[in-house]
Amino acid sequence: KVRVRFAPSPTGPLHIGGVRTALFNYLFAKKHGGDFLLRIEDTDQTRYVEGAEAYIIEALNWLNISYDEGPEKEANYGPYRQSERKNLYKQYADRLLESGNAYYAFDTTEELDAHRKDHEAKGKTFIYNWHNRLKLKNSLTFSAEETQRKIANGEEYVIRFKSPEDETLYLNDIIRGSMQVETNVLDDKVLFKSDGMPTYHLANIVDDHLMKITHVIRGEEWLPSLALHVLLYRAFDWNAPQFAHLPLILKPTGNGKLSKRDGDKMGFPVFPLEWKTAEGDVFSGYREDGYLPEAVLNMLAFLGWNPGTEQEIFSLYELVSAFELDRVNKAGAKFDPEKTKWFQHQYLQMVDDEKLAEDFSKFLSEKKVSTALDLTTIVSLLKERATFVSDLWEQGSFFFEAPQTYDAKASGKAFKADTPQILQQVISILTETEDFSTENLSEKVKGWITSEGIGFGKVMMPLRLALVGEMKGPEVFDILFILGKEESISRIENAIE
Ligand code: GLU
Repeated sequence: KVRVRFAPSPTGPLHIGGVRTALFNYLFAKKHGGDFLLRIEDTDQTRYVEGAEAYIIEALNWLNISYDEGPEKEANYGPYRQSERKNLYKQYADRLLESGNAYYAFDTTEELDAHRKDHEAKGKTFIYNWHNRLKLKNSLTFSAEETQRKIANGEEYVIRFKSPEDETLYLNDIIRGSMQVETNVLDDKVLFKSDGMPTYHLANIVDDHLMKITHVIRGEEWLPSLALHVLLYRAFDWNAPQFAHLPLILKPTGNGKLSKRDGDKMGFPVFPLEWKTAEGDVFSGYREDGYLPEAVLNMLAFLGWNPGTEQEIFSLYELVSAFELDRVNKAGAKFDPEKTKWFQHQYLQMVDDEKLAEDFSKFLSEKKVSTALDLTTIVSLLKERATFVSDLWEQGSFFFEAPQTYDAKASGKAFKADTPQILQQVISILTETEDFSTENLSEKVKGWITSEGIGFGKVMMPLRLALVGEMKGPEVFDILFILGKEESISRIENAIE
């Protein structure tokens, strides 16, 4: 059975790259009738950020990416927070020590920094590996007794993975195909620290194994860890899952990775929900900016994947059936804020008018605008030109607030010497009209215009200006119908005063 996991570290808010990883894992699991797990990788206490886990869960909920197992959804393979699994990892580090695949090292940070500087000065990079581990005289040069004595003395240590020497590894990735890595370039990564905590690498492999993960789908930034991970599975004598590394998400310009500051600089969110840092910085979120979760999901799905057809609008359900990992690109995916808006516009059109009217009504109450007008009809007339609920206000505030001024340029064209007299006649028609429906109004007014031979522009332009204040908005007869007889007449009277 397919089992995949999304394994964020709660070091801050989830950015869209993280959500994309969650989504692709979810789609893959559901496509194959498998399980999607959420695992919180919080072993690095120094990078732990208060509220990040709650944020992650809220973001997934908002987007409707539901997990089958995870925090608050404990199942057979829990707990799902690594901090709660803390006591489990030591035995696995011990196992690697016993089998000779790992070793204790006692280098201080200062010593390591000095080595690094030394190497840099010679134009080389310092690698803690087969070449150096004996030379450093802080690890494998100690006898077993000495090592135990140091540990008993409370000296700080780490347990490092012992990378094999002179070996060519053949790695495979579902998206990238096969790759070769020389083990001699690998660092002997730290697996466990004397504070009793495993590092990401150890905890990640142990948990993927214990949680029976079949496919690891994650961002490309983890590709450099693939060799170590594969070696760890081998050292434990476990079957490794299959790996798929998702392409980077690039800035809209295409040069470089999208970063959390880009959004603020270029005016679009990179986070699903708003995030406030402890320092008081606020990063905007898609939810607060008025995006529909379905639009954001659809946009995310296309960051590195495409269905191979012309279809662009996909519900989550449709994505599940269309999704294939082998249709995921290797090349970085350019983030396109305009396309995101386009998706939002499409999805806003699909919201039914009653629901949209409810959202608009909330928006109006926040603006302290109260109205007795029929919002359902209003949104049905306005939504075609709207991308966000706030655009309904941009487009249609005149329904709720009678114009105080008239667009100067338009009134220059529309208000002529005979306009007051023409509009006065319109008022008479409106006054006499019993059935104030769009159709009837249109028939009456147009009939009159034709019989008098006045010319449509001479009537309709000033009429629109009187009602709206500008040359915008839906059909004039729709506006008359929504405003009703009394309000319409009062606006026209105001305009010709
Ligand atoms: N905790 C890692 C992260 O924050 C997980 C990487 C992986 O999926 O293996 O992305």
